[in-house]
This record gives sequence, structure tokens and C-alpha cells, in this order.
Amino acid sequence: TDSSDLFGALFEAPAGTRTVPVLVPMPAPKPYSYCVPDGTAVEPGSIVQVPLGPRQVIGVVWDGGEDGVDPKKLRPITHVFDCPPLSKEMREFIDWVAAYTLSPPGLVARMALRAPNAFEPEPMAEGLRFIGGEPVRMTPARARVLDTASDGVSWTRTGLAHAAGVSTSVVDGLISQGLFETIFLPPPPVVAKPDPDFASSRLQGPQKDAAEGILSEVRKGEFSVSLIDGVTGSGKTEVYFEAIAETIRRGKQVLILLPEIALTASFLERFQDRFGAKPAEWHSDLAPRMREKVWRQAVTGEVRVVAGARSALFLPFEDLGLIIIDEEHDPAYKQEDRVYYNARDMAVVRGRIGNFPVVLVSATPSVESQVNGQNGRYSTIHLPTRFGDAALPDLHLVDMRRHAPKRDGFLSPVLIRAIGKTVEKGEQALLFLNRRGYAPLTLCRVCGHRFQCPQCSSWLVEHRFRSQLQCHQCGHSQRTPEACPECGTLDHLVACGPGVERIAEEVERHFPDARTIVLSSDITGGVKRLRLELEAIAKGQADIVIGTQLVAKGHNFPLMTLVGIVDADLGLANGDPRAAERTFQLLSQVTGRAGRTGLKSHGLLQTYQPQHPVMQAIVSGDASAFYEREIAERERASLPPFGRLASIIVSAETRHDAENHARSMRSSAPQVSGISILGPAEAPLALVRGRYRFRLLVHGRRSSDMQAFLRTMLAQAPKERGSVHVQLDIDPQSF
Ligand code: ADP
Ligand code: ZN
Repeated sequence: TDSSDLFGALFEAPAGTRTVPVLVPMPAPKPYSYCVPDGTAVEPGSIVQVPLGPRQVIGVVWDGGEDGVDPKKLRPITHVFDCPPLSKEMREFIDWVAAYTLSPPGLVARMALRAPNAFEPEPMAEGLRFIGGEPVRMTPARARVLDTASDGVSWTRTGLAHAAGVSTSVVDGLISQGLFETIFLPPPPVVAKPDPDFASSRLQGPQKDAAEGILSEVRKGEFSVSLIDGVTGSGKTEVYFEAIAETIRRGKQVLILLPEIALTASFLERFQDRFGAKPAEWHSDLAPRMREKVWRQAVTGEVRVVAGARSALFLPFEDLGLIIIDEEHDPAYKQEDRVYYNARDMAVVRGRIGNFPVVLVSATPSVESQVNGQNGRYSTIHLPTRFGDAALPDLHLVDMRRHAPKRDGFLSPVLIRAIGKTVEKGEQALLFLNRRGYAPLTLCRVCGHRFQCPQCSSWLVEHRFRSQLQCHQCGHSQRTPEACPECGTLDHLVACGPGVERIAEEVERHFPDARTIVLSSDITGGVKRLRLELEAIAKGQADIVIGTQLVAKGHNFPLMTLVGIVDADLGLANGDPRAAERTFQLLSQVTGRAGRTGLKSHGLLQTYQPQHPVMQAIVSGDASAFYEREIAERERASLPPFGRLASIIVSAETRHDAENHARSMRSSAPQVSGISILGPAEAPLALVRGRYRFRLLVHGRRSSDMQAFLRTMLAQAPKERGSVHVQLDIDPQSF
């Protein structure tokens, strides 16, 4: 636009004699060269503003010096931000992630710069300081203000009025009489600093040994990976708190990654109880101003501990000394958008580059981490029992072939009786079903018409509370009609299968007086409302909770003594080799919500496959046999972590274009021993938002250089023409 051209022109500084590479937040394959105006000081890591086409963009001065281009031919850097430069470690990390995931480094760097106004110190707020003297006329209100201000502290105008309990006009009157001087206040700190000795460590028994193991790594202050493998409620959090305390004592910053940070208010409070202050939060629900503050204070070192979602891994800490990854097996650590990466794996890389310890934590470690534990790459620390007098729930399978629910129902009589008993005792029951909405499929009883998304290969999910049919792939929604759009028959549409809303309806039929809460991401009011509901549950203000995986993570509900799994088989059906592992992890986590205090607790898992290894592993409480089988199976098939996988998704507006391009990518690929290509086949989601998707799976031995192969493959592939788009996913979640 005109104004940005003008802006660009105004900022054209005098040419210099030096050039530097600058990484801009674009999908460019490498940094661009810019000239440094004479008298401007930049170094690798400096955050700068540079012209790019007609725009001004933020970039980072990168490593690699002069490229021999005549500086006169280059455009100059327009501004250097007053911000500590990104450290060498951080730059190396960005390059490493870019190379590993085959993403443009600029896009990775952009993740490190996601706080648009944080690169310059915040403008200082105006403050007041009492300089002495008496007002012309003293009033009780004026006296209170002077009394409050007389301690020499600097106040904001409204802060002083508030503290003195008067209106701002009283303060204004005193200012106009010259009793105050105006000064500039430094920005308030985002959080108080956590104090490692605020509350003393209270570890007991096996927790002590576990903490000792990790503390010895922390004291070495070198790269190492520890895996805390302990059942839910065994005190893993207490143990890693000691590692955090020690790291703070050593003057280093700490990053804690959590899969659902926005929902774990209780975690922040626990942290505060131990350290006297909350950690800074980092996640996508953070207000932009807060985000900018946390970013800046992480860079300047003012923030000592950050608790965040996976994206916090790209915060350019001043001096990071420890990363904790809680629930390390959680699929939420995988980002599948632009830069595809697994924050757990990249955290280990960051620890290696920064030469500091990394601690993985889980009740159900991923197969990858288990194998790394077995081969000695990670040191594993076990916590096999719950802390104190809390016992794990008694778990039982409900064989649905023998305990069929009533017509139109999904809860077996056994489960209904158990819910009744629990509620009678004044305790809480959780019914878990990982399916949002009312029913996953709606069809016409007369003609068989099924409601499908017009843009995706998925059924529309009925949301009865909102009278809508919704696509969970693309968000498309429409009103639920009364007549079938195909045959026109009225009132013959039937809901097939249950979602949480439908289970709630069934629960209300059986327990009309119970207080029920449905929890899923569909809740109106967003994260705030969810936090409130979770708090209400923890305080015992609900009898029966019906929820998706949102309720599975991390929460501590003291009164919850029954967990009912509505459909334990749900996650097993999709044919993915990781399905059993995932189902085991999710079910362990959900059943782990019960019995966190001394109360006797139960879990009932409704299944049609009681002999399935996952079900057996869950009820026996012995995961080792299950994991051994899983690991043996992966090894036999040379699947990760014994082999390497990459998935290439080719999408296009027509099926033909997508399939064709995928085929030619395959036929133009290099031949390398130890690496093979499977497909193309229709991707697991074959049509999303009107785009057809085909998948190539590249499989390699552990020793093969997957990245080099893929680079060559991409270079030799035909150009992406028309609507064709190629997306690479290293270490895909499903395969
Ligand atoms: P995990 O992280 O393994 O699920 P937590 O650390 O949350 O386990 O501990 C479970 C419960 O036991 C929490 O309520 C915690 O406060 C309590 N707890 C754990 N260790 C101790 C301890 N040493 N002293 C007192 N309470 C503890
Ligand atoms: Zn859709």
C-alpha cells in the first residue's frame, strides 16, 4: 500500500559498508543479506526491522558473516530493537529444528518471535512521589493521601487514590498544589520471583531417592535426560519441584511444559505453595499484553520459571537450565501446523544444545521413551505406588456382550448401579467418553441418507444443545433439519452412537436429582468457563461429570471415587499401530482421576473386547507385559523408535491432481538402500476443507539419513502446480 511504501522510504538509512544475513519470518530457504548502515551496531542474534518488498518485517541477524555482495546493492536494516540478542544456543536450536523438520528456518524463527510488541522495553508509566509540604487546606481525605504517600514509595495516580480510599480528584487537588513530583515508574514485574526455599521439601520414602537421582543430574549442570515413570498420584510433581528448586538456586531459568496449561490453574497454585510465587504462563489463551511481557522477561532473565504449552519451547530464555516435560507421552506435544514438530523430542535437543538436564514425566511413558530408558540413553526413575494413604482405584471390565444396556442406552446396568451408590454416598462419578456432541452420525431411517460434511470425508456430528450438525474437521455447521434432505420424510432422522451430550441425557433419565456437568471443548464461555467448572467439580459442586479428554489431564478431584469409561474400545478401531499405546495411556490417565484421597475408589471400563491386551494391562495394573509386547511389535516391524518414518501429504482441489502428484513424487524419488516408500494411498483424512489428500509414507532404518533422503526427494519432485500442496511430517503421530 501507499503508506507502507512511504514508511519504507522514510526509513531508508544511509548505506553502509558491511552486510549481514537476516532471517525473516517467511518460508524462505535461507537468510537474506542486508547492509548495515554505518554507525549501527548489530551482532548475530540482534532483532532488527528490515524492508521486505513493500513491507517492513521483524528479523534476526543470523550467523555466517559477509556474502560478498556489494553493500550498495542491498537495502539497509531500518531499525535495531533495544532487546537482548537471541543467544547462540537459541540460533543453533532454530537451525537444528529447521533442518530436522525440513522447515524453512524463518518459520521456526517466527515461533521464537511471537510477541509482536515485546522487542522494545515498555514505555514507562508516570508515577508520583510526595516531596513534602502542607496543603492549603487539610481535609480528612487529604490527610489520608499524605499519610499513605509519606513512606517515600512511588505511586500511580489511581493507585494512590485507591490505597488511600479517596477519589482521584483528591489526589489531583494535591498535585496541583505542588506537593508531588512526577517521576517515571519502571514496568511492574510480571510475577514475583519463585523462592526455592519458600516451603521446605517434604519428600518421603521413594520420592527422596527419586529426587536424589534427578538432583545429582541438576547439580552436574550438564545435558542428561531423566524419565520419572510413576503412577498417577505417586508424587511425581513433588519430585520435580525439587529439581526446579535446585535449578533456581543455581541461578538458571526453568521451563515446565504441560499439555493443557490453560486448564491447570491448580498446578499454578501448587507451585505457589511451594515457591511462594506463581510461574509465568505461556499459552495461546494469554492476553497479547501479557504474552509480550512474559516474552520480554524471559529474554531479559527477569522471569525465572515459565509453565507453558509446547510453544513455550521457542521462548528465547536468557539462561535456561532445566526443562520439565510433564505427561511426556501426550499427543498435544505434537504440532501439526506449518512447522511440524514434537515438543518433547525438540526439548531434548534444546537440552543437548544448551548442555542442561531435561526431565520427562509420565504415568504411562511413550514407547519411544521406554526404549530410550532400556538402552540407557535416559535414566529411568520409578515411583510405583500412590503417595500416602491414597490407593489406585479398583478397576473392572464390564463385558458389554453380557451386560447390555437398555434400548436407547449406552450405560450398562452395572455402571448405572455404581453411579447410584457413589452419588448416594455424596461422592462423585466421572463418565468418560472421548466424543463431543450428541451423536457422531445422523441418518434417515427411511432412505438411509447419512449427513456428511460437504467439504470433508467426515460425518456431521449432531450437537443437540445447539440444534446443529457440525463437522469436527473444518468447523462447517448447519441447523439440524426436521426432514431428510434426500427423501423429504419428516421426523425420521436417527442419531447413531453416543457423544457426551447423549450420555448426559441418559444420566439425567436415571438420576434426575443429581447435579451433572458436561465438559467438552464445546462449552460456551471458553477456557475461563472451563476453569470455573473444573474448580466447581474439585469443590464437590457436582455429582456426575460427563466429559471428553479435557477432564483426563492433571486435575485433582478429591471426591471423585468412580470413573466409568463409556466406550473403552473407541480408540482401538482406527488401524493405527499406535492406537493400543494411545488407548492405554488415555484410559490410565482417566481412571487415575479417581481415588486421589484416602477414599476407596473404582473404575468400570465398558468393553466388547475384554481380552484385548490394553484392557488386560489396565485391569491387572501391570503395564510391563503390555509395553514389552508393544516394543517387540515395533521392533519386528522396524517402526519408531527402531526405524524412522516420515509422512508426505499431497493435497489438491481434485482427487486426480493429488494422486497424480503423489505418484510422480514417488517415481522421481532417489533409490537409497534401507529407505522405502509406501503408497500413495488415501490419507487417513481423505478430504478436508474441499482438498483431497494422498499420503506417501517414507520408512527408513534407524541408521539412515532420512532428512538427506527427503531433501533430495523434494528437489527431484515435479514442481507443485495449481492447487497442489505438499506437506512433510517427520515422525508422524499416526502411521
Ligand atoms: P503425580 O504428579 O504423580 O500425579 P502428585 O505430585 O500430584 O502426584 O501427588 C499426588 C498427591 O499427593 C498431591 O495431592 C500431593 O500434594 C500429595 N503429595 C505428594 N507427595 C507429598 C509429600 N511428600 N507430602 C505431602 N503430600 C504429598
Ligand atoms: Zn468439514
